[in-house]
Amino acid sequence: MSTNLPHFRYHPDPVASESIRESAETCACCNRRTGWIYTATFFTAQDVSGRFCPWCIADGSAAERFEGEFTDAYGLDGVSEETLVQVTRRTPGFHAWQDPHWLVHCNDAAAFIGEVGYNELAAHPEALDGLRLDLRMDGWHDPSQLDTFLTHLGQGASAMLFRCTVCGTHLAYADAS
Ligand SMILES: [Zn+2]
Ligand SMILES: [Zn+2]
Repeated sequence: MSTNLPHFRYHPDPVASESIRESAETCACCNRRTGWIYTATFFTAQDVSGRFCPWCIADGSAAERFEGEFTDAYGLDGVSEETLVQVTRRTPGFHAWQDPHWLVHCNDAAAFIGEVGYNELAAHPEALDGLRLDLRMDGWHDPSQLDTFLTHLGQGASAMLFRCTVCGTHLAYADAS
């Protein structure tokens, strides 16, 4: 990827994940046309007359000006206050059926890679095994039913894939429509 986009530690390739795309739109925060616009979630009680450029996300100005968050703090347990602010207010969120949330590993927020189906998930066995275990704990007791669900990821339901920013382990959660 050859762009000059700001670096997002917790969402390293927001163009690949389609949270940010090329656009001639004017940013609702800085009123500039940067050539890029953010297309995913932003939670605020205020009226925002448009979308944001990646730079107003990276420097925190969009979240500050409109008193909003790109991602809910749900799931961000055990991370520092600084990381919490970084993820919720200075990192692009992503498209999901349910409210997007971040995964944590090694006491740091993980980096969001993208929405994936079974084949991409199976390329990271530790993520697949971890997801299977989580779903079992959520009440999926029938192993064959669970396997059917997992192998059909990408059709209706999908997996949100992350990579630990500390140890590199992949992890995922299931997002259902
Ligand atoms: Zn801007
Ligand atoms: Zn880790």
